[in-house]
Amino acid sequence: MKDRVLIVYTGGTIGMVQDERGSLRPFPMEHIYDVLPELRKCPYTVDTCQLERIIDSSNMTPDFWVDIAEIIEKRYDDYDGFVVLHGTDTMAYTASALSFMFKNLSKPIILTGSQLPMGVLRTDGRENIICALELASCREAFIPEVCLFFENHLYRGNRSTKVSAENFDAFMSFNFPSLAKAGINFSFKPHLFLPKGTQPLEVRKRFDRNIAVLKLFPGITPQVVRAILGAEGLHGVIVETFGSGNAPTEPWFIEAMEDALKRGIIVMNVTQCKAGSVVMCQYEASYEMSRMGIIGGRDITLEAAVTKMMYLLGTYPDNPAHVRKCLGESLRGEMADTPCK
Ligand code: ASP
Repeated sequence: MKDRVLIVYTGGTIGMVQDERGSLRPFPMEHIYDVLPELRKCPYTVDTCQLERIIDSSNMTPDFWVDIAEIIEKRYDDYDGFVVLHGTDTMAYTASALSFMFKNLSKPIILTGSQLPMGVLRTDGRENIICALELASCREAFIPEVCLFFENHLYRGNRSTKVSAENFDAFMSFNFPSLAKAGINFSFKPHLFLPKGTQPLEVRKRFDRNIAVLKLFPGITPQVVRAILGAEGLHGVIVETFGSGNAPTEPWFIEAMEDALKRGIIVMNVTQCKAGSVVMCQYEASYEMSRMGIIGGRDITLEAAVTKMMYLLGTYPDNPAHVRKCLGESLRGEMADTPCK
């Protein structure tokens, strides 16, 4: 029997064509063979389906993550792999969220999109879709993880980040090598793949949106910090710190943090730097964070930190100790296994 791949279309530039007047509009996914006739040559069967509401990915929410996951869950046994077509703006968030939702994954789920719509001559969408399909159906190297394919690179989904609103190579994975590269042939790095799930698949669908990101900058005022930490119903905060995880040591800042922790808010330290890691206690400026019980995010991306915190708070709402423990560990390859030195 031929391999089968399911395309799940969620929206974004990739699904757009130009109408007679030259304006861009989404095309119905069942017409993908008209837009991409090359698909007829694929040695595997390609089926398509789409979210009930097609969105620009700037409107992405955890409810849509659940919709995408349920589409895949319902058809999990019928397909060998899945390709999710997604707007680029928040694709790294969705890839990260899906990686946490699918526990014991044993099939590839590959997100891709494009910088130029499918319907324009120089589109990067054609190449991205075809490579993602090839990888999702590849027998030579079976990739049992949530990945993101863009401009010749297959990245671990929860390690990727959008870096360009202009270039075709719009994504990067600064702290983890790409899993495969497309040239004349695909070159794979199977030693980097996550192990294939051997237990039954579990799909976790609860997210807690009551979190905030507090991005530090020189001169940030106590009012701003207190306003964020004092937001009603807040359960978790990601502090985007400087360099290797450093934050101001001024008493008002420490007091504001201690007060939040006393109120049961879980706080994680993630660096603003694109590459490298939080190393708690390397400088006095991060020693205080560690002393207070703030969790070091090591080399995690902001996208993975946000979705991981929402996922853990939603999945274990009554077990903050477990949430804290899991935030400090790698669950799906999203951070280095051991604290970085
Ligand atoms: N705004 C679009 C989106 O993320 C951009 C894109 O598709 O690349 O949905």
